[in-house]
Amino acid sequence: MRILVANLGSTSFKFRLYDLGAPGEPLLARGAVERIGSTEARVKITWPGGERELTTAIVDHGVAMQICLDTLSEPGVGVLRSASEVAAIGFKAVHSKDHHHVHRVDESLLASMEAFSSVAPAHNPPYIQAMRTLAKRFPSLPLVAAFETDFHQTIPEATGRYAIPDAWTAMGVRKWGFHGASHRFISWRMPELLGRTDLKLISCHLGGSSSVCAIRNGQSIATSMGMSPQTGLPHNNRVGEFDVFALPVILKETGLTLEQALNTLANHSGLEGVGGAGRDLRDIEQAAEAGNARAQLAIDLFVQSIRHYVGAFLFELDGADAIVFTAGIGENSSTIRSAVLRNLEWFGISLDTEKNQATRGGETVISTPSSRVPVWVVPTNEEIVVARQTRDLLFSAGS
Ligand code: AMP
Repeated sequence: MRILVANLGSTSFKFRLYDLGAPGEPLLARGAVERIGSTEARVKITWPGGERELTTAIVDHGVAMQICLDTLSEPGVGVLRSASEVAAIGFKAVHSKDHHHVHRVDESLLASMEAFSSVAPAHNPPYIQAMRTLAKRFPSLPLVAAFETDFHQTIPEATGRYAIPDAWTAMGVRKWGFHGASHRFISWRMPELLGRTDLKLISCHLGGSSSVCAIRNGQSIATSMGMSPQTGLPHNNRVGEFDVFALPVILKETGLTLEQALNTLANHSGLEGVGGAGRDLRDIEQAAEAGNARAQLAIDLFVQSIRHYVGAFLFELDGADAIVFTAGIGENSSTIRSAVLRNLEWFGISLDTEKNQATRGGETVISTPSSRVPVWVVPTNEEIVVARQTRDLLFSAGS
C-alpha cells in the first residue's frame, strides 16, 4: 500500500512516498517542488537508484503533484505502475478549531482549519489552499489530515488549560501543543531502542520551530507549546513565550495595528528578532563565534528556555528514563545540546563531550556511562508517523 505524505508551503510541495505493505515500510521516493506559481518552478525527485531535476512552469500544487506522480510512473523510473497506485495522501496538518485527530479532508474540516488560520498563520492558509487544489485535481484520491495536536490530547486538564473563564476554554482557547508527529515518533522509537515501554521521556524537538514534550508510557502529559505554534520556546522567527499584556503597550508606543504587531511576533521575532543574524541557527552560531553579542544572546535565550522546560518536565515526570534531542538543531548542534545540559551532574545527567561532538545524524547515546539519565540523539521521522496514521484511518478494520 503506497501512501504519499505531503509537506506544504505556500509555494512549495515536498513529499515522501512509502510502501506500508512491504516489510520494513520502505521509502520509495521523495521529492521537492519549489517556486510553485512561477514559470521557473524547480522539481527534484529522488528514488533508490535515480534522481530527476527539472525547471518548468507550475501553476499550483495540483500540477506539482501531477508532475511528481507522472515522473514516478514512467517506465524507466518504475516506482509506480501508474499514478492510481497511490492509495492516499497524508498531510501533517497543524491546527483546526474542531478537528484534533486524524481525519478525511472535506469541506467541514477545511472550514474548521480556516477558523484557526489566525492561530496558525504560517501553516493553515497554504495547507487549506493546496488541499482544495489537490481534492479538485485528484477527486478519487483520499486526502487525510493528521493533526499535530493529536498526540497531545492526553495532556491532563490541569496542565493543558489556561486559567481563564470556562466560556473561553469552551471556544478552544487552551494549550493544544504541536510537533505531535515528531514527539509521537520518539514515543514509538525509544521503547524499541531501550527494550521497554514504561518509559518517562523528555523529547526535545529543536528545529525551525521547537518544542519540548514530557511523555509517560507513550503518552504526552505536557508540552511547551500552547494555543498556537508561536508559543513556548523561541522559534527561528516566531516569538515563543510572550505576555499578552505587552501588546497594548507595543500598539500604543509604535502605532502598529494589532495585525502588524502579530505579524512581527509571528514572522520577525524569535532567534531572528533577537540575534539580527538571520533565522538559521548555523548563521547565528557563526555570528556568535565571530563575536556578535546579539547573536550570542539569541542562542543564550533559546538555551535558557529549553533548560526551563527540561527542568519542569523532570519534576512533572518524577525523573526521566531518557532525554532525547531531535530535529534539525537537536540532531545537528552539539553546541546547543551541551549548553542545554551543562552543570546537571547534581540531577544525574552528564554529557560525554566527545560523543556529543562526534554525533553525525544516527541514533546515538551522548551521555557518559555513569549518567543516571541517558541522553540520546534520535533523528525524527514525522512522515512515517503520518503515513501510518493515514493507513490506519482508511484501511484498518472498522474504518
Ligand atoms: P527543521 O525544522 O527540523 O528542519 O530544522 C531546521 C533548523 O535546523 C534550521 O534552523 C537550521 O539552522 C538547523 N540546523 C540544521 N543543521 C544544523 C547544524 N549543523 N547546526 C546547527 N543548526 C542546524
